[in-house]
Amino acid sequence: IKKIGVFTSGGDSPGMNAAIRAVVRTCAYLKVECVGIYRGYEGMMESDFKVMDARSVNNIINKGGTILKSARCLPFRTKEGRQMAYDNLVKAGIDAFVVIGGDGSFTGAMTFNEEFNFPVIGIPGTIDNDIFGTTYTLGFDTALNTAVECIDKIRDTASSHNRLFFVEVMGRDVGHIALNAGVGAGAEEILIPEENLGLERLVESLRRSRLSGKSSSIVVVAEGDKTGKNVFELKEYVEEHLPDYDVRVSVLGHMQRGGSPSCFDRVLASRMGVRAVEALLEGKTNLMVGVQDNKITLTPISKAIKGHTKIDKELIRVSDIMST
Ligand code: ADP
Repeated sequence: IKKIGVFTSGGDSPGMNAAIRAVVRTCAYLKVECVGIYRGYEGMMESDFKVMDARSVNNIINKGGTILKSARCLPFRTKEGRQMAYDNLVKAGIDAFVVIGGDGSFTGAMTFNEEFNFPVIGIPGTIDNDIFGTTYTLGFDTALNTAVECIDKIRDTASSHNRLFFVEVMGRDVGHIALNAGVGAGAEEILIPEENLGLERLVESLRRSRLSGKSSSIVVVAEGDKTGKNVFELKEYVEEHLPDYDVRVSVLGHMQRGGSPSCFDRVLASRMGVRAVEALLEGKTNLMVGVQDNKITLTPISKAIKGHTKIDKELIRVSDIMST
């Protein structure tokens, strides 16, 4: 392998730049050429390429977002689209790529690998932590810190006014952000898709906590929770059943995807980037770099996209005990 392409694709996450930097610098260190591909598969189809050397990635380890930009690209889902992308890569002499993205981007890479026998390695970049084969995805830790910082601020106003706040956090179909940020911010209740205890229990628990002397409460709600009600409907439901409650809603939204990556995400990105390039040079392909038991691992992309990292049951138990 003489020339490795690197790109970010799908939803962005903090730490993507640190991963690009790690891939580019590892290529420079191992004397392999490196090409940045702008806007993911879209740029691949339009030959939007830029040769990158060690100095192209100065001063980006601390930056959120992605300097290579990201995109969602419909034509890449078609055989003709992928053929065009392949022809462009061959023309540019790129003979392998590292894709930094989520399960959609990985599915595209896997299909591409199978069709053209083109070497690909994935780095999981998503705040949701919803990829199998890694305990942590890039951006998850930063998103948690952002969410906790926001919830701390909401708690200030909640306690000043004796209010109950429903705070919705991101996470798609999984509750990793909600559970971890909820425990970290001291939430009274955490609603996650993995464990639906029902609305009656929620109301009962809030009633009990008021009786026990708590004057304000924070309930963290995962965007994918299974109560069947969104945060605004939850507010109405609780106001109906607990009329003396003053309830507010806050949806944290996209701020969770931005910002300077945490030290944890920068270190993780650096380790993953090094391993991704090394794996390609070892002749490996169709694998995702992950971290398990604090070791850098490789998992078939086909497996990574099929499952999710399991929710930490022990942390659910801890959170139950903490809300006594
Ligand atoms: P993420 O990588 O964050 O999950 P998406 O699901 O939007 O984001 O996927 C990013 C891009 O990956 C898509 O815009 C598309 O170009 C490509 N992609 C996703 N699914 C497929 C698929 N089944 N076949 C080919 N390409 C795909």
